[in-house]
Amino acid sequence: MPKHIRSAWFKTLGQLVLVLAAAVLLGWLLGRPWPVVTLAALGVVAWHYWRLRKVLIRLTARQRIEPAHGAGVWNELDRLLYRSQSEMRARKRRLLDMLRAYRAAAAALPDAVVVVDRNTQRVQWFNKAATTLLGLQQQDLGGPVSQRLNSLSLSHWLAAGRNAEPMLDAISPADPDLRLNLRLIPYSDQYWLLVARDVSKMLRLEQMRQDFVANVSHELRTPLTVIHGYLDMLDPTDFPEWAPILAEMQRQSQRMTQLVEDLLTLSRLEAQDSLPDESVAMAPMLATLKREAEALSQHRHALVVQDEAGCDLWGSNKELHSAFSNLVSNAVRYTPVGGTITLTFAREGDGAVLSVRDTGYGIPQSHLPRITERFYRVSTSRSRESGGTGLGLSIVKHVLNLHQARLEIESEVGQGSVFSIHFNPERVHPREPASASSQLQGHTA
Ligand code: ADP
Repeated sequence: MPKHIRSAWFKTLGQLVLVLAAAVLLGWLLGRPWPVVTLAALGVVAWHYWRLRKVLIRLTARQRIEPAHGAGVWNELDRLLYRSQSEMRARKRRLLDMLRAYRAAAAALPDAVVVVDRNTQRVQWFNKAATTLLGLQQQDLGGPVSQRLNSLSLSHWLAAGRNAEPMLDAISPADPDLRLNLRLIPYSDQYWLLVARDVSKMLRLEQMRQDFVANVSHELRTPLTVIHGYLDMLDPTDFPEWAPILAEMQRQSQRMTQLVEDLLTLSRLEAQDSLPDESVAMAPMLATLKREAEALSQHRHALVVQDEAGCDLWGSNKELHSAFSNLVSNAVRYTPVGGTITLTFAREGDGAVLSVRDTGYGIPQSHLPRITERFYRVSTSRSRESGGTGLGLSIVKHVLNLHQARLEIESEVGQGSVFSIHFNPERVHPREPASASSQLQGHTA
């Protein structure tokens, strides 16, 4: 027991002893000691009850307890209560200040932040930016979030909950000129954070970049055609000493034309949200790819086509052909003479997979994550030598995105690579009889 508590106890006990002694003395003087002592003892008990009542009343009424002066256990209890009350108040004030600072920071964020109750999906809190970006008003507090943000068709997205992918390009319900990037972050068992970021400026810049590339490519096309045309008219036999230079000029202008064509293809694909859903007959497609590979390979490789799926696809004939032929031409160009290129179309569950396997140079693992970026090459010199533009796999990726398909690359340096395109079941349909008959032609082509 601390010293001051012990002395308070002694003081109280001392008071009791003094009162009882005085009562005994008074009782003895009056000649009736017991009634006086009993009365004094009752008085002491009553006084203690009165102090206890006072403490209880103060605590129940949450009254501010004043620091007590004087000694004794009751004063000591008052002092202790006052101390713990002051400490609690200070802690509460600190917490409130902290909470206010957090709220002020969240309110000042340029992104819209909305706290949504996970079970009821009602708005619990939102910051200032949520008013400008999402149009939420004070009266929306406590209301269902999907009803307030109806135009964003949030309900489906909220239902997906934790697994929801960010909504990348949504039109703001507050201003149709604003484009938003929405994310749902579950931050506790009870609450979700809905964060909306204004990406209008970024999208405008991206659009400007796309327009610039498309315009430059388009403008380069005509002068290149003229240069190409004049170069074709020049006969190297007329200028034997210029023959190698002319051949190089022709090769380079061809490369530039291919580059411009690929850039235009990419711009066209980027500008599209979806492609026509045609029936893509895979047997003739595989036959065409084989013919193209043979033309490129010039009998330097063995070419094998395995058509095992017995189904066709839904998609754009033109774009899918461009994606497949990019993979096939890469396989030919990055496989040394004598290698084998195998083109397989097979079922994969209810979906389908088209894979292009080669026994070529292969790609080091470290390059695989970036291989589909524009102009990304494992070896610039080898790509140039083989007539590559560095845009082929970018085109493949864009075409596949528009078909909700996935590209998988497996590769081992010195052993070869497998590029597989995985199609969802929705993209697959049974082969039509006409296409089945051309399958035979495909195999004999
Ligand atoms: P490029 O026009 O240079 O071929 P791509 O975008 O088609 O551009 O390919 C990017 C890079 O990926 C190529 O430069 C090459 O290094 C590598 N690559 C693509 N396909 C293969 C393959 N089948 N085998 C080995 N490397 C490949």
